[in-house]
Amino acid sequence: MKIIETVEEMRHFIKQAKKEGKSIALVPTMGSLHEGHLTLMRQAKQACDIVVVSIFVNPTQFGPNEDFAKYPRDLTGDSQAAASAGVEVIFHPQAKEMYPAGYASFIEIEGITEKLCGLSRPGHFRGVATVVNKLLNIVQPDKAFFGQKDAQQVLVLQRMVADFNMNVSLEVVPIVREADGLAMSSRNAFLSAEERQAGLILSRSLKVAEELVAQGEYHIEKIRSEVIAKIQTEKLAECDYVEIFNYPALQEISVLQDKALLALAVRIGKTRLIDNTILEVK
Ligand code: AMP
Repeated sequence: MKIIETVEEMRHFIKQAKKEGKSIALVPTMGSLHEGHLTLMRQAKQACDIVVVSIFVNPTQFGPNEDFAKYPRDLTGDSQAAASAGVEVIFHPQAKEMYPAGYASFIEIEGITEKLCGLSRPGHFRGVATVVNKLLNIVQPDKAFFGQKDAQQVLVLQRMVADFNMNVSLEVVPIVREADGLAMSSRNAFLSAEERQAGLILSRSLKVAEELVAQGEYHIEKIRSEVIAKIQTEKLAECDYVEIFNYPALQEISVLQDKALLALAVRIGKTRLIDNTILEVK
């Protein structure tokens, strides 16, 4: 497995692979790889001849008071994990390779970025769309793999790819969870043992909503308030947002029709965790 740090070398590798008729998958990540990331990589390997994983903690998607500096980084462990998943290349640029002096171009997606994480993390999706656009231009993959863990991110990127007529297929992989239900996340590494236990409140509160819907409760405010009440039973948890919007348009609704996204952002101590589920009328 190769580790490539420059755009020029990455382009050279891709040019050669394409000359050989190989199909290419890209899995964008911020590293500190876990089983969620590895699932994306394995699916990418099944779909394409060559898998490129980018590992880049993208400064433009972090707000000034967020955890950019202390975001976990572990290139040695990541290299071993990626190699075991059949990855051919890790693309690991430095920030100045991606944003050299004079850099001035950003992508803004309107509408769906104005709620959920877009509201609580101003500028976040501008940074995400910009870096993913750059990675797609550099790697020119046939397919790019993303996790439903970041459900809003998937919708934003689908909008970008459609609006800019980008020639790539976005593949979405379901949320990978620990055995006890906690959605896997690089940020779980920040949790103490007590906080790790408290973090279970996210998936448990999603279950509350799923059960209500299964029993025929379709009133959004009722479902939402039950979810909030469940989260409030955990003393270490503090809600950032609990929202339900229709899916995939992300518009406000008062009664569940067809599909809705229930999305949570909850602080456990200093760590902000997100999780989501699709509520569906059966
Ligand atoms: P990150 O490194 O957190 O930016 O994540 C890189 C990619 O992995 C994104 O497309 C995420 O949605 C995806 N991902 C992260 N955690 C999970 C998970 N638990 N299940 C599925 N996909 C995930």
